[in-house]
This record gives sequence, C-alpha cells and structure tokens, in this order.
Amino acid sequence: MISVKKMMAAIVTFGFCVSMSVAEGRPLVEITLVNEGRPSASIVVAQNPTPSARLAALELQYHFRKITGAIVPIRTDREEITGPRILVGQSKQTNALGIKGADFKSLEYLIQFRPDTIILIGRDWQDTQENRKELGRDTYGRTIQSSRHQIDYHKATGQAGQGAKPITLPGFFDDQGTCYAAYHFLEKFCQVRWYGPAELNVVMPSQKTLTVRGGEIRRSRDLKHIHALGGGWPIIKVQWDSPNGDELNLYWRRLRIGGEKWAGNHAIWTKTVREVFNNPEYQAKGRGSGSQLCYTNPKLVQDVARVARDYFDGKELRDGFKAMGDYFAVVPDDNYSWCKCEKCRRILDISEEDKRGEGLFSNARNSYYIFNFVNEVAKEVRKTHPHKFIVALAYSSYTYPPKGLELEPNICVAPCLQICYGYDKKTYYENDLAIYRAWLEEGDRPLYLWNYFHHPMEPAVIGKWNCFPCFMPDVISREIKRYYKDGIRGVFLCGIGQQLDYYLYTQTAFDVDTDYKELVDEFFTLYFGGASKPMKTFYYRISEINREEAVVGTSREKSWAMLGTPERMKELGVYIDEAVKLAGTDIEKRRVETWKKGVWEYMKAGHHQFYLRENQ
Ligand SMILES: [Zn+2]
Repeated sequence: MISVKKMMAAIVTFGFCVSMSVAEGRPLVEITLVNEGRPSASIVVAQNPTPSARLAALELQYHFRKITGAIVPIRTDREEITGPRILVGQSKQTNALGIKGADFKSLEYLIQFRPDTIILIGRDWQDTQENRKELGRDTYGRTIQSSRHQIDYHKATGQAGQGAKPITLPGFFDDQGTCYAAYHFLEKFCQVRWYGPAELNVVMPSQKTLTVRGGEIRRSRDLKHIHALGGGWPIIKVQWDSPNGDELNLYWRRLRIGGEKWAGNHAIWTKTVREVFNNPEYQAKGRGSGSQLCYTNPKLVQDVARVARDYFDGKELRDGFKAMGDYFAVVPDDNYSWCKCEKCRRILDISEEDKRGEGLFSNARNSYYIFNFVNEVAKEVRKTHPHKFIVALAYSSYTYPPKGLELEPNICVAPCLQICYGYDKKTYYENDLAIYRAWLEEGDRPLYLWNYFHHPMEPAVIGKWNCFPCFMPDVISREIKRYYKDGIRGVFLCGIGQQLDYYLYTQTAFDVDTDYKELVDEFFTLYFGGASKPMKTFYYRISEINREEAVVGTSREKSWAMLGTPERMKELGVYIDEAVKLAGTDIEKRRVETWKKGVWEYMKAGHHQFYLRENQ
C-alpha cells in the first residue's frame, strides 16, 4: 500500500506548493488537454448545469485558452463525445460512473483522474424557485439572493470585444463544490494563480501543450466560512489595477469567499429593526433611547425570540436583521449608551466589577449585562428550535465571556480579534489571545471569529493621511492554523488592506496546509520575474520594521516617527529603484508600477506630509 505521504509526493511533483489531503489507492493518470495548440479534449456539462457547474466550465475553457491559445469545447451531456473529457458537475456521464453531486457533503468536492476522464464535481446549489425563496441576510446585511450576482463574463475576463456573455454566479453561500474542484484543479494542475481581480493580477504559464497528471483529491474547505469583501482602499486598489465590479465579483468566487451560512453583526436595533420593536417601553432610558433597548425587559426577550422563530420557520426576515442558515444574530447597537432603568443599572453594576482587559478596547466591563440578555433570548428560542443558534459577537466592552453566568448551549459566539495588531504584543495581542482562550474553554459551542484586518489602513483613510503599511504573513499563517486546530468554523474578515496578505489569508483559510514562505516566494517569483528579489526584500523589510518596533502605524506618529523613519525610507527606496531597473518584460514593468505607485509612492507622500508638519 502506498502511504499518503508518498502519494502526496508523487502528485506534488507535477503540482506545486499547495498540499492537500489525498485519497489513497488511485493510480496517477496523465491526460493531454491541448496538444501543440489544438484541443484534444472536451469539457462536458449537463444540459441544464447548476450555476456552479456553468461557471466552472467557462473558467476552465477561458484559462486553457489563455495558457495554450486553443479553445477546448464545452459540450452538453446529450452530445456524442470522443476523446478525453473533463466532466464538470453532475451529468449523464457522471451518473453512469455512479458519481452524483448529492453524494457529497456541503462544501465537499472531488477531483478524480481516470483513463481519458477527469471528474470535477461537488455538492452544488440547484437553481429552483423553491431554493430561491430561502431567507437570509449576511454580515453586511445583504440578502442571500443578492449575492447571486449577474455579471458579463466576457467583461470580467478582458474579452469584452467578443460581445456580452451574461451569467449568474453562484451566491457566496450557495453550495458550489464543482467550482471548488475546478479552481483547485486550475491552481494545482495548470499552475494558475489569481493574485487579484484584474487581468494584470492573474499568473499562468504560456505553452502550446497542456498535459495534466493526477490521482484523486476529495476534501472540504478547511475554515467552513469566510466572508471578506473590499478593495476600495488606497494601496490595494492600485495593486488590483482598479478592477470593475464584474471582475471583483468573479474574483470572490476564484478565492472561494463564502461557504457555510452564518451571519453576525450589530445594528440589530437600528432604524428598520426598531420599527419591529416599536413599543416605547423597549427603548433604553437615558441618552441611549432611539438606539439601544432595555435589555432586561422580559417582554422584549419574548419579542426578539418571536422574530428569530419567524426566521427559522422561513416566514420573514426584515431588513436590518442578520441571519443565515441555522444562525440568528442578537447584537446590540455599536455604542455604550446602555439603558439607565433601575434593573439594567443593577445588572450593569454587577457587570462592571469584571476588570479583565480594563483600559483596552476589548474588555469584560459589559459582558455580564449583554450576555444576560442574549442568554434569555437563547433560552426562549431553544424551547421551540433546539438545534438553531443565537449568534453573539464578543466585542469591545463585552469581549470576555461573562463571569457567573451559565450560557445556553444554543449560543454561537464570534469573538472580535484584532489580527491586524499581530506585532503589537504588549497592548493588544496578549489580551486578544486571553479572550480567545477563555471562549475556547467556555464550553462546547460553534465558534466563529470576527477578525479585524483593518489597521493601520482604516484610521488613515478616515483621517485622510497616509500610513506606514503592515505586512504580516507569519502572523496570518500562524493564526489561521491555530483557528483551524481549535475548531473555529469560520471568520468574517473586517478590512482588506493589501494584495498579498489578503490572498494569503484566503488561501490559508481554504487549505490550512498552505506554507506562507512558499506562497510568498512563489508570488514574488511568478509575479515580478526579474524584479522579484528587490520586491520581496521590500515586502519583508516592511514586515520586519513593524515587528521590530512592535507597533502598528495607526497614527501619524507611529507610522512616520517610529516606523517609516527617514533612514528606513531611504533603504526601502533603494529596493524599489532596483526593482524598476530589473523588471524585464512589459507585464513585469506594469506589475512593479502597481506596487511602486500603490505602496511606495503612497508611503512617500505620508512620510513627506508628516515631516513637513513637524518642521512647520
Ligand atoms: Zn432597562
């Protein structure tokens, strides 16, 4: 019997750094898809494919063409097929082989090589009227239905000259195992890399013949859920070459954003939601009125439970609520204006005795008060829906688990952790780790994370100044591996600051065996070619500077007096000048330019403004 390790080694010889769990026992098969610029295989889909299979087939055809120049035809399962075939999603042909989409668990997929046949399949959402009725609003408050984006596939792939090609993408939270299989296949066997949404960001080989060799991979994504959109902030926007909406929507699928249905966010008590609870006695006493509610009111508990039940029964989910799948979020408004009534005051007094995290953003000051309310709602909902969950964020003044309160088993918690402060050990990181461990020890319940990824960029964007960026591949890799090992189901990633760290985050979340050093090496080699060495030094040097100082550039002073000092800026400038000189091909030059303009000139402007102010 071949060991898994040996099998891996055999498969990896043709693939590269992405290592995966591999089923044993299937011999390696070699198949030529394009031979000397001529297609020698067919892509086969069902007559009426799922949105996932339709997209997967188009993506395979597009990338094969970009690599070889040949158009590998897409055929339906009703046509007569000769020669090698790639079966994409369930079809008559996969049925004949005894493989059906429904045999897979949610989020699971298969890549299987057989003589003359490659099978790419997984569980896919079926586009039926019934399925379209499913209720749900994600962490951003957007409906499940609205993430089934309509895009012009040609516009999204730089083929606008060929006329419009409108398609509906699978929704973020629709099962799309066939797409997972196709994207994993393109990465592992065809060496395609999606470093960003624009054509300039995509790397793949150029060759006349495309031969692939493999056995079998059957797996599921590692973190079950990842939600993380963005791209409008200064650095990443330039690195991504200012993508259009269709390119962005396609990119989220390529990165496999989405997964298990889950949502958690504030604002449950704001405007539209307030109409649902418009009883004046529910409003917080004092200046919180109109935003916070009286979280000790027993009738309010009943009313919130009713709304949750209506959602779980498929009756209604009004704008403003956040709920998906088995999860309904109960999170107060984002301020500290708690109710001043006597009962709330009494419970707040007990709550405020808990001094953990005192003086830091994430602390325990209101944990007892907020979780007391969440607990009461959960208790009520559990009576009728014992297998559904109430989602609580563990956030800000209620980040620590409450002391002296036994939480109901149907509460799902998402601690809000500041991964972006990974190099700031003294103030943030250790406190966050203590919070994380406290929740792991708190009991057996589904845990998600709200992962802050927005420092130092967000304060700079809001304050209209330019920051010294933070790159932290080692922290991202270490933390996601930790989350996975501890059974964290998924993350909401809050704030996307730059190209490579975001890419590393999503790749590691999908496959926690991703090695960050290999991924970073590969990125610089494939992306910048001749200029790779100074560009990599530039990237790692910025990372080291943040680590050395153990601060993140969240203020002008931290950014430019502590991190981006004149001496360091001089050193960093040398790497960029060298990269500009060494970039050989046109595409290398253009990519270096996106970093020179997007990262370096952005930094130079921030540095300049700071020292100009200092000298005034
Ligand atoms: Zn009150």
